[in-house]
Amino acid sequence: MLRKDIIDLFRVPVGKKLKLKDHNPGWKQSAEFEDFGKDAVKERAQEVLTKSLTDLAQAQDLLYADSRYSLLIVLQAMDAAGKDGTIKHVMSGVNPQGCQVFSFKKPSSEELQHNFLWRYAKCLPERGRIGIFNRSYYEDVLVVKVHPELLGRQLPREKEQVGKKFWEERYEDINAFEQHLVRNGTVILKFFLNVSKDEQKRRFLERLERPEKNWKFSASDMAERGFWDDYTKAYEDALAATSTGPAPWYVIPADYKWITRAVVADIVTTTIRKLNLKYPEVTDEQKKRLVEARKKLDAE
Ligand code: ATP
Ligand code: MG
Repeated sequence: MLRKDIIDLFRVPVGKKLKLKDHNPGWKQSAEFEDFGKDAVKERAQEVLTKSLTDLAQAQDLLYADSRYSLLIVLQAMDAAGKDGTIKHVMSGVNPQGCQVFSFKKPSSEELQHNFLWRYAKCLPERGRIGIFNRSYYEDVLVVKVHPELLGRQLPREKEQVGKKFWEERYEDINAFEQHLVRNGTVILKFFLNVSKDEQKRRFLERLERPEKNWKFSASDMAERGFWDDYTKAYEDALAATSTGPAPWYVIPADYKWITRAVVADIVTTTIRKLNLKYPEVTDEQKKRLVEARKKLDAE
């Protein structure tokens, strides 16, 4: 399968209903590799990842030198879907100076005093940089939609008015916010790591069984698992309403970590490449200075 087809396969179409059951979390191959068995597929995915990482390092260097665009990567997922591992692997080859990661947890009381986009706006990547949001303003239409009591003071009206319209307005606000960013040179990629409920169970059990993974387990993860269906619905609604031409969502299969990483790295690299970035041109005046500097150094 061509790279372009893979990207199209996972992109959430604009303005259509989304059913996550139509997206297979265990996707791991295209028909082309089916005859080769699992090992060959894994090897192929690793090849794609290695190649993408080299390409990504180059692409990031250009992004930085060109310094007109920034790239915002939004990662959302249920617990244990592999956000952390994806960031670690996909960003392993890039220059740390050009990359910033922000992990968003429950908002502080100060943050709750502001509009819901405030704390994220402060962390946006500047031109030339890649910014990663490990969780994002989408939590404000996901976890907060599942547990509306989290709205706290962010609710300017009576409780009974937190209905369909309230959430639709938040989707609109998010779309307008992203539109604004895109118009100002931020390229936005949004990934939903789609892990199955069975695979989440397996990963939780691993966290319980392996002492070095115990710290990763939190009781609230178990509690949220109890709301699986509510989250699924919240994700379906949010992704369908906010996958736009300029800021698309991708539903990434997440039951196999090596697939998640290869696909994300591929989409990030392909997207930066499409910007047709160039190293800044050296003017005649600057060229003269280079020649002069060279002469001076040679004369030392
Ligand atoms: P891991 O996959 O390792 O568990 P994590 O991203 O879940 O990583 P945690 O510290 O476990 O990190 O959890 C962060 C928590 O903060 C999540 O439960 C998330 O739903 C919550 N959170 C993030 N943003 C908001 C928000 N705007 N309002 C309320 N809760 C939020
Ligand atoms: Mg968690």
